[in-house]
Amino acid sequence: MTLQIERVSKSFDGTSAVLEDTSLTVRDGEFLALLGPSGSGKTTLLNVVSGLTRPESGRLVLDGEDITDLSAGRRRFGMVFQSYALFRHMNVADNIAFGLRVMDRSERPSKAERRERVEELLAMIDMVGFGERYPAQLSGGQRQRVAMARALAIRPRLLLLDEPFSALDAKVRRELRDSVRDLQQRVGVTTILVTHDQAEAFGIADRVAIMREGSIEQIGTPDELRAHPASPFVESFLNAA
Ligand code: ADP
Repeated sequence: MTLQIERVSKSFDGTSAVLEDTSLTVRDGEFLALLGPSGSGKTTLLNVVSGLTRPESGRLVLDGEDITDLSAGRRRFGMVFQSYALFRHMNVADNIAFGLRVMDRSERPSKAERRERVEELLAMIDMVGFGERYPAQLSGGQRQRVAMARALAIRPRLLLLDEPFSALDAKVRRELRDSVRDLQQRVGVTTILVTHDQAEAFGIADRVAIMREGSIEQIGTPDELRAHPASPFVESFLNAA
């Protein structure tokens, strides 16, 4: 699906704008990273897309449908955050099936279909046989793979990832990055990743949007950004990493 973010503005408590007329198009099936220093508005922009934050002005258009006023639940987006946010009292299978169980009755798959879908996803994340385990019995990397499976279970229209790797150590982070990219390509879901880590953004994304003070400073493929940084800010930000 193609997402158009059109001139979105957001401020908190009358302070200066965190997002100001921010526009961005995320192409169908692409993996886009929002990269920028801390405080540049990445999470706020992602939260506007997810529906957790309402912008003061601007529009969001998904494949031609204006979703600006659609509630977060009705957008049917998959989300993965830095802290795993798995339900601790639910086993892995129930965690993955959670989004399916709370779907509108008209769309909700039957119990047998849900079980089948969970098995399919466990295979996709290389965790066949882990359905009965509880989050406390898993490693950090495994928990994030379960969080990915839970996000994908609902066949989301968009996948939104907010620093999903940052709580993990370097080796696990690297492995998880590869498996997230692999999953995303197999499913073909349009994906937005928020990160402040240049190597991560460049290593995983088709295109990288560099944010500065609430605006998109430059957007391009990793090669384009490296070869032609559009401003001293981009150049120094990329060099500093
Ligand atoms: P990033 O994800 O790039 O680190 P954020 O979107 O989290 O940036 O934050 C951008 C700016 O907005 C920061 O100055 C932050 O303090 C402010 N901000 C974010 N969320 C809130 C909020 N709920 N209330 C007040 N200010 C906020």
